[in-house]
Amino acid sequence: MRQICVVGSLNVDLTIRLERFHMPGETVNARDIKTYPGGKGGNQAVALAKLGKSVMMIGMLGADENGRFYRRVLEQHGIDIKGVGESSLFSSGTAVIEVDDRGENRIAIVPGTNQLVNNAYVDGMLERMLPCDIFLMQFEIAIETVCHLAKILRAAGKTVILDPAPVAKAPDELYENVDFLTPNATELAALSGHATDTLESAVLAARTILKRGAKAVIAKLGERGCLYVDGQTAYPCAGFRVNCVDTTAAGDSFNAGFAAALADGMPVDKALRFANAVGALSTTGMGAQSSMPTFEQVEVFLANNP
Ligand code: ADP
Repeated sequence: MRQICVVGSLNVDLTIRLERFHMPGETVNARDIKTYPGGKGGNQAVALAKLGKSVMMIGMLGADENGRFYRRVLEQHGIDIKGVGESSLFSSGTAVIEVDDRGENRIAIVPGTNQLVNNAYVDGMLERMLPCDIFLMQFEIAIETVCHLAKILRAAGKTVILDPAPVAKAPDELYENVDFLTPNATELAALSGHATDTLESAVLAARTILKRGAKAVIAKLGERGCLYVDGQTAYPCAGFRVNCVDTTAAGDSFNAGFAAALADGMPVDKALRFANAVGALSTTGMGAQSSMPTFEQVEVFLANNP
């Protein structure tokens, strides 16, 4: 089995539920506040661990209660956290999330210690990381560092899966070192400057990214599933019909599912189907990490949805 490493963000989500968003200067009572582990890096690592994969996390937490909380969460999932540093320079990455009664949200992210996952830090972790084969990254750490590390990983013959979220401009040099770029429809539109509302337009949009150097683009298309495009071929992989209640971290679950399937030696088309199942199942419960499925749940689901 190929080993998997996630290099990315760890955020503690402080989620406040309130009747309606308040105006500047106004004070309102909120219904409640809950603390959840989140951040795209941590979400992908936990999703992989729930799928039964041995996973290494490279990231940074603060020397604070949120940092200790997240460290315990990662440990409880059996994730290798020797590459998760601690710093008192900043607070742990934090997302303050307000959700109103209509289900709309407003999110403010404090990157905190995630900004310390820089070139020097990943260089110091290389020896620890390089025994891994498949690497997952996102855009919640410095893009310069994602770019720097992708170059090293490509030279070392590793598989790089990059989630370009939250969407941001990146140099072509980055795409040249990415095996699988996994934008959602909105991100693909922003990166390519093309519409992505139909499959045909999404294929054209993906091809513009291939021109910039990525080996393959996997567009995540919500309930429609996903679309695979590389230099030779383009095909959709239909999504599964589920009772969707909350899509938070569906994309992270999808990426973990895809990486887990590749690690098991599945061919790409089967890995996409597996990833669609992991993404779909993650939408059937509330929250990010708590609704991510186990390997057994995915197997049962796939058997029941041939
Ligand atoms: P993101 O969460 O990054 O915005 P998507 O919304 O496209 O990305 O979701 C990621 C994946 O999760 C999809 O490609 C699909 O496999 C699955 N998924 C998301 N929403 C649904 C849904 N309503 N029904 C079934 N599968 C879904």
